[in-house]
Amino acid sequence: MNRLLLLPFLFLLPSILYPIEEGKCQLFLLGKQYEAVNYIIEDGKVFLAFDISPLTPLLKEIKLKILKKNNEIFYSLSQLGEFKALSCKWDKENKQAIIAVRLTKENITWERTPSSLVFQITSPLPLSFETGILSSPERAFIDIMGAHLYPAKIEEEIGDNLKMRVAQHSVAPDVVRFILDLPSSPPKVEFSPSPANVMKISLTSPLKGRGSGLENIDLQKIDGGAIASLKLTQISEYKTLLLKNPPRLAIDISPAYLTPALTAPQAISPISQVRWSQFSYDPPTVRVVFDLEKETRVDIKSEPALIKVRFGAPLETDFDNLLNLKIVIDPGHGGTEPGAISSNGWKEKDINLDIAKRVKKLLPSVILTREDDINVSLQDRVAFAYQVNADIFISIHNNSMPQGKVGSGTETYYYREDSLLLAQCIHEALISKLGLPDGGVRRRGFYVIKNSPCPSVLVEGAYLSNPNEEALLTKEDFREKIAEAIVEGLKKYCGGKR
Ligand SMILES: [Zn+2]
Repeated sequence: MNRLLLLPFLFLLPSILYPIEEGKCQLFLLGKQYEAVNYIIEDGKVFLAFDISPLTPLLKEIKLKILKKNNEIFYSLSQLGEFKALSCKWDKENKQAIIAVRLTKENITWERTPSSLVFQITSPLPLSFETGILSSPERAFIDIMGAHLYPAKIEEEIGDNLKMRVAQHSVAPDVVRFILDLPSSPPKVEFSPSPANVMKISLTSPLKGRGSGLENIDLQKIDGGAIASLKLTQISEYKTLLLKNPPRLAIDISPAYLTPALTAPQAISPISQVRWSQFSYDPPTVRVVFDLEKETRVDIKSEPALIKVRFGAPLETDFDNLLNLKIVIDPGHGGTEPGAISSNGWKEKDINLDIAKRVKKLLPSVILTREDDINVSLQDRVAFAYQVNADIFISIHNNSMPQGKVGSGTETYYYREDSLLLAQCIHEALISKLGLPDGGVRRRGFYVIKNSPCPSVLVEGAYLSNPNEEALLTKEDFREKIAEAIVEGLKKYCGGKR
């Protein structure tokens, strides 16, 4: 067939299938309403004659399909709808066109800084918005004009008893409503001015300086293991728990919050998986868990706003190792310093000394800082450790709470990073043997563990201020259990130490 004959026929065909329709419609362009806008429907596609300049920042070098008629330029609605940043709709029945900005979860971010909490809604085009505070219950809102939300509803717990809710409030006019449910004592709320590409809501005062954000978790392969680096936005305290069945290391960072940018690193042996959660909001605590393929030696090193964890060779028990070490056992208090006194008159100094002597019975190579009920200054305890060239220093204490409070559980303290593994090993043994609430491995600068020449921990076996635990501490078999746990922890530590 002759080509020249075919061409005019092809041009005619679509207009037979889809007759051209013309008329006037209502247009919502980025939240603004326009009446009697001329439209043409050709080939089933809607073309609109309108001032396209509000969209020009998006269009740049893209060539738009246009129709020209009666000195007017008509733009293709479906072509505009192909832009990722736009959401375009045509309502055939009501003769209504909508051109809105498409917002997704990615357009909504929040960030904690040392002084504030800032929410940011970023739009590819400047939008008008209204802001305000609503009461009972207290909440802050931003109504964003000319936007469509995908999905139509987003909710997120932020911490500090704050909840973020974003939803499509209405269509034609298109309003996305951002709501922040505020706590009962609301912080100071500030909004950025409208219109803008970036809509900001900043919360200050009561939130000031509360908590660090966990920004990044990075894994790096090393000889025989892996190093995990946890990057924080500011310095926070942390507590570690080495757990069994299945083996895993949990790190609780507090005060701290998750930041939305956090992504999972690729697992490296012996780490099988890294996971995290906002473990609690009061106090704000982030828990990061490293699931392990097997029980593994773990060392933690912290720099300001950076926690580094080394996962190394598997732990083995090696008793011989233990006998070759100079281990100093330090029964806390003594003489005129009784330490805690229970309501029935039991003195911590006596219980501490009894436990220390039981450790010596189990492991005769240990050396005690005192064998009797005598005063020994903290300085002398440290000096003693230097004098005997100690490899390990363990201070034995039992806890108490100030008036009115009872307290409960077992805590193990370390201060320097060289002492963490020792603290973990002993604490784990204490928890499994004593079965009291797990007060955790904690970092605190007690004089003796801060100043000693070697890995050092301070054990708080149980609470003398708690009548139940006092009753336990007065029993020989319980004190024996504390001694056994200390020895067991030492064995584990020496097995793992190379
Ligand atoms: Zn004490």
